[in-house]
Amino acid sequence: MNPDRDTKKALRWDAGLRTSEPKAKVSGPEYSMSYACLSCKTAHKRHIDGAPSEYPLKMECPICKGVTFNLGRHFKAPKKSDDTQWKKVSFLIEHGFLFQKIRLDPNSSESVPYPKTLAEAKEFVIKYKDWAITHAL
Ligand SMILES: [Zn+2]
Repeated sequence: MNPDRDTKKALRWDAGLRTSEPKAKVSGPEYSMSYACLSCKTAHKRHIDGAPSEYPLKMECPICKGVTFNLGRHFKAPKKSDDTQWKKVSFLIEHGFLFQKIRLDPNSSESVPYPKTLAEAKEFVIKYKDWAITHAL
């Protein structure tokens, strides 16, 4: 496993079509990322002073001091009481899917929609295993 290649894959969430641009210092809330804590069942927007590609995969949870996962800019956390959805989110993370964009055609901005249910997620992680971020956990 080549960790460098994997890291680049992980950084594609937000880079979008900007991947080829040189690393630029950007700031502002548009570059904050959602970090989700599976224990607290919450997501926090975190901002660091750096480009989207500099956001770490994991950060400490401000509440329980556990691990939170960078799920990108567009992640919307399920309700705290929605165990079913949190189960799905945690299943996806365990399998290396941190809501990174999955583009079957690298020349297209179309990306594969994420599964809505745990049952769909089980098929999803098999079908798209090549896109999994294997060093996330
Ligand atoms: Zn927590």
